[in-house]
Amino acid sequence: MLKNDRLDAWDRENFFHPSTHLAQHARGESPNRIVTGGNGVYIEDRNGTRLLDAFAGLYCVNVGYGRTEIADAIAEQAKELAYYHAYVGHGTEASITLAKMVMDRAPDHMSKVYFGLGGSDANETNVKLVWYYNNILGRPEKKKIISRWRGYHGSGLMTGSLTGLELFHKKFDLPLDTVLHTVAPDYFRRDDLSMSEADFVAHCASELEALIHREGADTIAAFIAEPALGTGGLVPPPAGYWETIQPILKRHDILLIADEVVSGFGRLGSMFGSAHYGLEPDFITIAKGLTSAYAPLSGSIVSDKVWKVLEEGTDEFGPIGHGWTYSAHPIGAAAGVANLELIDKLGLVGNARKTGAYFKAALEDAFTGHPNVGDIRGEGLLCAVEFVADKDSRTFFDPSKKVGAQVAAALLSEGVIGRAMPQGDILGFAPPLCLTEQEADTIVNAAKKAVDAVL
Ligand code: PMP
Repeated sequence: MLKNDRLDAWDRENFFHPSTHLAQHARGESPNRIVTGGNGVYIEDRNGTRLLDAFAGLYCVNVGYGRTEIADAIAEQAKELAYYHAYVGHGTEASITLAKMVMDRAPDHMSKVYFGLGGSDANETNVKLVWYYNNILGRPEKKKIISRWRGYHGSGLMTGSLTGLELFHKKFDLPLDTVLHTVAPDYFRRDDLSMSEADFVAHCASELEALIHREGADTIAAFIAEPALGTGGLVPPPAGYWETIQPILKRHDILLIADEVVSGFGRLGSMFGSAHYGLEPDFITIAKGLTSAYAPLSGSIVSDKVWKVLEEGTDEFGPIGHGWTYSAHPIGAAAGVANLELIDKLGLVGNARKTGAYFKAALEDAFTGHPNVGDIRGEGLLCAVEFVADKDSRTFFDPSKKVGAQVAAALLSEGVIGRAMPQGDILGFAPPLCLTEQEADTIVNAAKKAVDAVL
């Protein structure tokens, strides 16, 4: 319990919260929650309310809360050496060990990992490296980056542009004009309902080809994508999507950045989403699951092919002009080492696959046939239920009714945190990867009550 009874006032007066309705918060009109503790899949707030966090924070606390192994590793590192930088070849035991552990787990054709702080800056790094790569190869015109509508890649200037969500663009003068967007690979939300899944994949491919031809392949440097759409709706790709898209990229010499900030380290039931769906990326972005959010740390993993050109670049132009003060921060790295050890020790990647399948089947049992449930989908421990006004005609609810948000609120009053995804009436789940079948049942039972209450 907190002793300071002025926290609410201090919060409203001083704290500029991210992704928050600023005016409502300052006026005290929107709810706040002060979180005081966490254990396993549960968090506790200052009122002593215990909630099952079925979204693992922002799908990042993959090993669950309260892991003393990681806390101890952080404390030991802080006592021994809280900080030293990684510039001009400096390192620490933690940062070098973590680099080795990441590369041991990454696909074989990947070469090195650069460490940053969060997913946004890691994608910023990737885009800079893509530009550097093409400049070194003597193709300064090949710079545009293609992203998908409803992809999420961060909220910086470049990464907010890559993010294909209007809220992240409007009134911020984004997207930057080097960024292009193409079709979101969401079969359920296809415009033409008569399309088969295969037709829809062909449509995604032809739209991508058309964009490349319109802009000129010699102006397009890279395609960035999450293996499965995350914040844009938690949507696994339609069958055959990656098999169809990758050859197009190869044919036009367009690099692939696999944004695995969510999927990296087990979320989909494989160590990486790239391996899960057969992607052969040139860059892999990692963050969240790298430390399970016990400390901020991200990474940009580059392929052998890219690394070779980066080396040539520095031979020609000198040290790479890119780095953060906190790159490879020892405390983050120590958290990362302990976290990856724990993921292995507890078999969490396998658990995500197994319990994920159980969880999805339980959601199907609960909601298949419900007139307002249009889609139940998931891969590993990334699952969603999408609500519709009419199932047969796939008519969506009037967005002003905020049905998805209402269901999430009802779920919360049942003691479970799910996430109303911003792209429709979608209730999203991405619990810690240590979820048990019993905890999965608790989530599904609460979701049933919530749906009954609202619909
Ligand atoms: N990429 C993906 C796929 C993400 O889901 C996120 C965060 N939700 C980011 C990048 C950005 O990461 P961060 O918020 O740590 O900057």
